[in-house]
Amino acid sequence: MSCYRPEGAGTATPAASADALDHNPYALMQPRVPVRPPKEARNGARVIANHVAPQGVYLPNNNVLTPYMRSPEYVQMSTAAAITLGIMKGRMYRCSCTRCLNLLLTYPEGCRANCAYCGLARHREAERDYADRNFIRVDWPAVPLAQTIDIVARDGAATPFHRMCISMITHPRSDDDTVTVLKAWTDRIDPSTVPVSILSNPTTMRREDVQRLKELGADIFTVALDAATPEIFDRTRGKGVQSPHSWGHYWEILEDARDIFGPQKFGAHIIVGMGETEHDTLSLVQRLVDMGGHSHMFCFFPEKGSLMDHLPATPRDQWRRVQLGRYLIDYRGVRVDRMRFDGEGRVIDFGIPTGELDDVIDQGVAFRTSGCPGKVAEDVSACDRPYGDSPPSDIASYPFAPNRGDIRKIRRQLRIVPKKAVPATRDAAD
Ligand code: SF4
Repeated sequence: MSCYRPEGAGTATPAASADALDHNPYALMQPRVPVRPPKEARNGARVIANHVAPQGVYLPNNNVLTPYMRSPEYVQMSTAAAITLGIMKGRMYRCSCTRCLNLLLTYPEGCRANCAYCGLARHREAERDYADRNFIRVDWPAVPLAQTIDIVARDGAATPFHRMCISMITHPRSDDDTVTVLKAWTDRIDPSTVPVSILSNPTTMRREDVQRLKELGADIFTVALDAATPEIFDRTRGKGVQSPHSWGHYWEILEDARDIFGPQKFGAHIIVGMGETEHDTLSLVQRLVDMGGHSHMFCFFPEKGSLMDHLPATPRDQWRRVQLGRYLIDYRGVRVDRMRFDGEGRVIDFGIPTGELDDVIDQGVAFRTSGCPGKVAEDVSACDRPYGDSPPSDIASYPFAPNRGDIRKIRRQLRIVPKKAVPATRDAAD
């Protein structure tokens, strides 16, 4: 078996010396209490009062009044998607493009939830209009839906995108507008060319809504569970921050997705490093696999302006152990009960022979961004989210195949020394 011991395992480390920790403990990861914005700033009042007509693509923070933009006519997309679509200039470190076109619903009133780690949260109403808020570290330009579809339809099979994902937010119009965006997309674009995923918002959904999206041609349905335990869920996106989400309802919709979308066609997002143990996360990954689904991982990053922006990003050794454990459970048939953990829930044995573990590490796929698959392989995500959970200087999720130098760095972070020479990484050309 591959047994190793992380430095400091089994020893108590005071929370005050956060820099020295090799994991983010629960006691440390306490969000700030949200401050209620003044009445005149709530519900997009500024944007609604100004009622500036949009002129095509809107680039956030562009020193003009934020226009009045609303889905389904408008959607937002990541900076990476806008560059790939050709509506924004820019270059990305070591990436020529992204393979996933995320379409985020947008309204002047914004998301009505208050999740503590999220840049889109409601408590920011006074500080920044919704369309100008940063989300997973980047700006999200707003683009007319029709223009977006025209470009992808025009490119046909030559499109760089392997998948499109409609990202819902907590808003009373979100369910109906998701349907409208999906219909508009599938009317013009063959879902076998660019399949569609739904990143759902269960709070406003019922089972019939999940069924309707399946019937309209959605391929994969995911639930942004984000928190690995009910306590962390409540603290970061429920009552703890005056937010409407409930762990129980998220699981109901996840089970509906399992029934309706079927095996390998549903999954959940999990953020690593918000105070859970590695055992908590990997047990959740196992639960999802046992249901027939997948997990998509995000490394916690202190998003600017969020209620957790004062907290440390997930230490790289915690993150790498969880990435590796998740990959083994999701794609290599290893079970969490074959792994061993120390007293603080950290992995000390991945449950497979050392030679096999070496091969998995050296192939590098385990350390790439995880998400719904594209056209390369089942275990390679279309959703590569370049630098969505880390700066390029200290990559958490690799949006490309890690090269030999990257693997050496990953091994240093994991503190696992290779037993043999490192071969070329798999699919290094994609
Ligand atoms: S529901 Fe989603 S978009 Fe809204 S605050 Fe929570 S994480 Fe952010």
